[in-house]
Amino acid sequence: MAKPAILLVYTGGTIGMVKDHNTGALIAFDFKELLQRIPELKQLDCSIDTVSFEEPIDSSDMDISKWKQIGDIINSKYENYDGFVVLHGSDTMSYTASAISFMFENLSKPIIFTGSQLPIGDLRTDAKENLITAVQIAALQEKGKPVVTEVGLYFEYKLLRANRTTKINAEHFEAFKSLNYPTLITSGVHLKVHKQALRLVNRRKKMVYHTDFNTNVAVIKMFPGINKEILKSMISSENLKGIILETYGAGNTTTKDWFIDLLSEKISKKIPIVNVTQCIGGSVEMGKYDTSVKLREIGVISGNDITTEAAIAKLMYLLGEKLPPKVLKTIYETSLRGEMSEN
Ligand code: ASP
Repeated sequence: MAKPAILLVYTGGTIGMVKDHNTGALIAFDFKELLQRIPELKQLDCSIDTVSFEEPIDSSDMDISKWKQIGDIINSKYENYDGFVVLHGSDTMSYTASAISFMFENLSKPIIFTGSQLPIGDLRTDAKENLITAVQIAALQEKGKPVVTEVGLYFEYKLLRANRTTKINAEHFEAFKSLNYPTLITSGVHLKVHKQALRLVNRRKKMVYHTDFNTNVAVIKMFPGINKEILKSMISSENLKGIILETYGAGNTTTKDWFIDLLSEKISKKIPIVNVTQCIGGSVEMGKYDTSVKLREIGVISGNDITTEAAIAKLMYLLGEKLPPKVLKTIYETSLRGEMSEN
């Protein structure tokens, strides 16, 4: 039987960085050097082809056009490979990987994101383990079919569902957490696949690639003392098409009239508002406290237990689908790629 074919897509990030001796800052370096630094990749039981961004970037510079660049690479080679590994900076990895999960509907192959906290050339680097195991996971097959059929994020011995992750630490090797969804694969002496957590695929459905994302969105984080005039001007743009509201705890906000009226006015202008909790674990339950009853009444969408990263990507995706407000609300409150729990 042919060995699984894996495509490695290099976008940048610490994993492929070196020190600029003039400035002392970390900058991206040539991808070919990256492969030279990990000759172990050749020992894996799969064939690996690579493609690199012409100019690798720090992931802080990611934007929708670069998400599409990653998506286009994978989409154009979808039939030629059994799995895909994307090397990406950790800072915005959860955002990109969430967006990619919405771009690919009915995915039947693994797309595994990974990166590292220390550059590949560093003696104590975490890059080697992350990269080698990510490739192994992408190549994992059972009866000739990929074991993982979703967008995953591999970091520090764990494969997580990408659109459930958040970067929670800038220092520890364990940089990501998925507090509302269990680990998909644990890497120890063996790879332990937690089958019941994996997304099931319907192989009869064709993969559909979506790229019409609408980026005219704003994220508003609640804080005590939030100011009416400032908030008003923040969301006054004619182009604004949707708002993610990061609320307290189980979905609570101030109950002041001006605040509720402002939100209500936006909703009446067909601008959807999604309620997402600021907590990294747990979910929004509008109506649990009196402070969120009004939000439900004016038609705020429940983000349930979605992360802010996935919430932004999902809003951009659904706005791009140009749905009537009621339909958008219903679809938003439904899990599309395993990004939220079903109620
Ligand atoms: N600043 C880097 C980036 O996100 C950090 C990393 O790669 O972990 O691109």
